[in-house]
Amino acid sequence: MKGPSVVIIGSGPSGFYTAESITKKLNSNIDIIDRLPTPFGLIRGGVAPDHQTTKRISLAYSKTAKKEQINFFGNIEIGKDISIDELREIYDVVVLAIGSEIDNKLEIKGNNLKGVYGSAEIVGWYNGHPDYVDLEPNLNTENVVVIGNGNVAIDIVRVLSKTPEEMLDSDIPEYALNSIDKSPIKNLYIVGRRGPIEAKFTNVELREMGNLKNCLPVVNIDLPDNLVGNYSERDQRLIEKNLETLRSFVSLKKENKEKKINFNFFQKPIEIIGNDKVEIIKFEKTNLEDGKLKDTGEITEIKCGLVVTAIGYKPKNIPGLKISEGVVENNEGRIDKGFYASGWIRRGPTGVIGTNKADGELIANLISKEFKNQNKNGRNALIKIIKNKNLEVTSFEDWEKIDSYEKENAKDPTPRKKILTIKEMLNLCKI
Ligand code: NAP
Repeated sequence: MKGPSVVIIGSGPSGFYTAESITKKLNSNIDIIDRLPTPFGLIRGGVAPDHQTTKRISLAYSKTAKKEQINFFGNIEIGKDISIDELREIYDVVVLAIGSEIDNKLEIKGNNLKGVYGSAEIVGWYNGHPDYVDLEPNLNTENVVVIGNGNVAIDIVRVLSKTPEEMLDSDIPEYALNSIDKSPIKNLYIVGRRGPIEAKFTNVELREMGNLKNCLPVVNIDLPDNLVGNYSERDQRLIEKNLETLRSFVSLKKENKEKKINFNFFQKPIEIIGNDKVEIIKFEKTNLEDGKLKDTGEITEIKCGLVVTAIGYKPKNIPGLKISEGVVENNEGRIDKGFYASGWIRRGPTGVIGTNKADGELIANLISKEFKNQNKNGRNALIKIIKNKNLEVTSFEDWEKIDSYEKENAKDPTPRKKILTIKEMLNLCKI
């Protein structure tokens, strides 16, 4: 290989789209590093377990991973096992594609009470992410409140409301499935501080709420008949579709449904109350005036045993990175010569999986403008560091072993039975 040596930190969608784009522009060796022994980031640990069609995008990433010039190095944590500076010393190009994995904190009194979780924790828990398999959230409650009006909030209420039959063809781990099945949850509240027009749900996800076997969506305000205001044609179309879907919930058959998903709009969380654990969450009713949120002084409360905040994410702070306003400081993907950022770490936690494709192309273009040839050895130097530090790393072939094992151990139609600990994954790779 004659092109610049490249290392990409992070093997989620932005990492893989960037790798794929670089292979189309440069004759480079590309190494992809991940903190976990397994690749694919949010596809494996973030996309809801019942959204298997979405998860299938990993087949495309596998094709990329199997290209001759690409190597996967799993189980290496940047900032702990190897520093960014070390990587910059041995590679011509370092691309950060680490996403935004930390939950934004809801800055209100009581936010640290037991029973208050961020969406990354809950989503990681029901997805068998090794960081969260021991979370043991208390689902022994009739009422659950999810704060936020984005697709992550929708995912959470949907997964918590589905029956085991509806989850049959998902890869939810048994512990989470059983815990949800046994739970006495009756009411799930999905609460927005603004209204249905401002909600960020995509329509496909919102429509799913109307097709749940044992759960009825309920909208707790009068919906506007018409959309008045200045919206782009696209926004107007999307908002009207969502309003139509919310209106359609009113005429759904109510019988035989034990659970409800309550859409509560214009409710700003102001305090979480409880002795040692959450018991009540308080809201203040809001209005929108000229697009600005106004408090009304009208207070409501919901008794609940679980609060999940799904209010966006921020990146993990790694030594050597300058993070501000939720992203690494960068100029259209360029942090410095030979140092780039792609995906959520570059532009914040928005957009769908495919949005990262354009990021990949952007970074590949930047790199190909700044570098033509290999100056630093990259891969061989990395392998030396791995040996010197005695790091236990996984390859893409190791991942394929884990993948086959998980698939073989699942009962049809469940697509896979996930291995839940890093130790077990590493043991399997040794066989
Ligand atoms: P999001 O779409 O940005 O939604 C965040 C929500 O949190 C907004 O409703 C926001 O309200 C609210 N919020 C923020 N701060 C708050 C506060 N202090 N108090 C109350 N509410 C607050 O983020 P997300 O749901 O985490 O999703 C991240 C990205 O992943 C999105 O682009 C999403 O579409 C994507 N995603 C897609 C899928 C899918 O396609 N199936 C699934 C999951 C995620 P305001 O609008 O008032 O700020």
